[in-house]
Amino acid sequence: MKRFFKSQRGSALVIFGLAAVVLIGFAALVTDVGMMTYHEVRLSNAVDSAALAGAQELIYKVTTPESKAFDYMTKNGYQTSTTTVTREDNGNSIRVTSTYDVKFGLARVLGFQSKTLKATAKGKVLPIIAINNGVRPFAIQDQTLIYGQQYTLKEGGGDGTTGNYGAIELGGAGAQVYYNNIVNGYSGRLAVGDNIETEPGNMSGPTERGVDLLIAQDPHTPKCTYDHYVPNCPRIITIIVVNTLNVNGRATVQIKGFASFFLEGVNGSGNNSEVIGRFIKTISGGDVSDTQTDYGMYGVRLTR
Ligand SMILES: [Zn+2]
Repeated sequence: MKRFFKSQRGSALVIFGLAAVVLIGFAALVTDVGMMTYHEVRLSNAVDSAALAGAQELIYKVTTPESKAFDYMTKNGYQTSTTTVTREDNGNSIRVTSTYDVKFGLARVLGFQSKTLKATAKGKVLPIIAINNGVRPFAIQDQTLIYGQQYTLKEGGGDGTTGNYGAIELGGAGAQVYYNNIVNGYSGRLAVGDNIETEPGNMSGPTERGVDLLIAQDPHTPKCTYDHYVPNCPRIITIIVVNTLNVNGRATVQIKGFASFFLEGVNGSGNNSEVIGRFIKTISGGDVSDTQTDYGMYGVRLTR
């Protein structure tokens, strides 16, 4: 009888022991797996933002892409010793890879001490093929653009014969729509391959007022210049690269790409006024493509 009770107590202990392991196991699942998921998301967000920011520096070159990427990782609480930043795709991509050790709590009872998480992301700069809004109503003919060089974004009407001086009709014809598009940017989407209409006529008044207003709106001190500017400056404008401007009157032309310019101002006045901008390279939102011609305007494609 005594022996029987003893063995019963023994199995009760065994059952209690097993139940405790199961309970701790469940608790470990809830807390430690939850914590692991939290750290997985956090680490992957950090490498994503570091790859995006690093890739932008491939174009802006204010600092190096590598130091920018490391900077983002340390700001998010990760160590540079566990992060690698490499260039891929002939220098057009930045890859950020980072690891993080999650130290377990309750799961240690079950023999799991820690797990090393790893996340990687690649930011690749590619030419823009579509922009959802903000394009200005100027166009230049398809050509090889040279960084830092001055270009005429809208010619003076003085000695023209075709009636086309670089103005484009976006969202409606006429000088008022044209002026609004200079000041605020066109509100619609434009993509490579789209057919658009030219806006013939000199329109020197609205052109001068619009461009002067944009330049006056630059809030930055010291004033921005083409090689030292704040990326969201009102003087940075995006215009359209078209197949040709050698057309008569209001005519259909085709979008070949998009390019950014730093607005220098309006030269001359009246019939001879022309808009001058310097070609710059920028990063923008919008759709990108591997096969688009490079006109110096890029977006970043993020992949794992
Ligand atoms: Zn500025």
